[in-house]
Amino acid sequence: MNQSIRKAAVIGSGIMGSGIAAHLANAGISCLLLDIVPSKLTDEEAAKGLTLEHPAVRNRLATAAIAKLAKINPAPLYDPDFAKRITPGNLEDDLARVADVDWVIEVVVENLQVKRELLRKVEAHWKPGLVVSSNTSGISIDEMSAECGPEFRKHFMGTHFFNPPRYMKLLEIIPGRDTDAALVRRMKDFCENALGKGVVIAKDTPNFVANRIGTYGLLVTLREMAEKGYTVEEIEAVTGPAMGRPKSATLRTLDLVGIDTFLHVADNVHRNVMDGAERAVFEHPALAKELVARGWIGEKAGQGFFKKI
Ligand code: NAD
Repeated sequence: MNQSIRKAAVIGSGIMGSGIAAHLANAGISCLLLDIVPSKLTDEEAAKGLTLEHPAVRNRLATAAIAKLAKINPAPLYDPDFAKRITPGNLEDDLARVADVDWVIEVVVENLQVKRELLRKVEAHWKPGLVVSSNTSGISIDEMSAECGPEFRKHFMGTHFFNPPRYMKLLEIIPGRDTDAALVRRMKDFCENALGKGVVIAKDTPNFVANRIGTYGLLVTLREMAEKGYTVEEIEAVTGPAMGRPKSATLRTLDLVGIDTFLHVADNVHRNVMDGAERAVFEHPALAKELVARGWIGEKAGQGFFKKI
């Protein structure tokens, strides 16, 4: 198995998709990185006389993500040439190329409908043996693949990397009801030996293991903060080094994750848990809703709880 994954396609070039592509490329795997086609030209593109049909515009999202990668994954942490193993593309022109790879990882927004539609499009190009996985933070693997055929579902599972993929050792592998057990064992072996991860096999329950616990803690902290009037600095001080976290305490972690994504992840449990008290915890805290309404969704927007300088 370690030898059999030589080419991968990562779909979604946001925080996690770009980080996962970088990690795979650093392990010597050539990676196709795909994202959606932009619907509007930037001022710079318009000034250059480009149109929406120009490949530079169509591949803009993945190209921009690759350009950022070398800065956040510097040598000697990563091989200086890792980014050369990543090829940018877009979902309309390049999806058929997934038939040439060994592993497709879906890393688009945390939305069941979007992921379902994408899996059906990937299935249209699926060939026997191709492994397909999702980086979902907690959407059910069975629900996501419910509209796909049995052969595809045998080769489909969750591979949940944590943020940032270059540092976080944990990787949850989540088999669905129909996932081939031997394939799960081979992927565990591959992720441990070729990607340096510590794999936990998790059940297909809402938010799996780490995010069921982690999201709960973050939501409770945000409510306490608003109710008791704690400041951002106070929350960071008590939940940072004091709790054994060297750098990213609660609110910096939320900025890194993306507050929009964090609320989608909370919804996965809210939608599925019927127990009143636990369900109430997974409602959106007013503070987080207000930040999202302002567009302060974290580092990716330049502002969350903290301003990115
Ligand atoms: P992000 O917002 O940074 O990126 C999402 C990407 O999805 C963007 O590149 C966007 O262009 C693309 N996209 C949006 N709509 C789409 C559509 N209709 N079809 C195809 N692509 C579309 O999000 P992210 O933080 O990279 O999260 C991606 C996935 O990884 C989610 O499932 C999330 O829950 C999971 N995840 C996130 C973190 C984290 O810390 N942010 C950690 C682990 C897992």
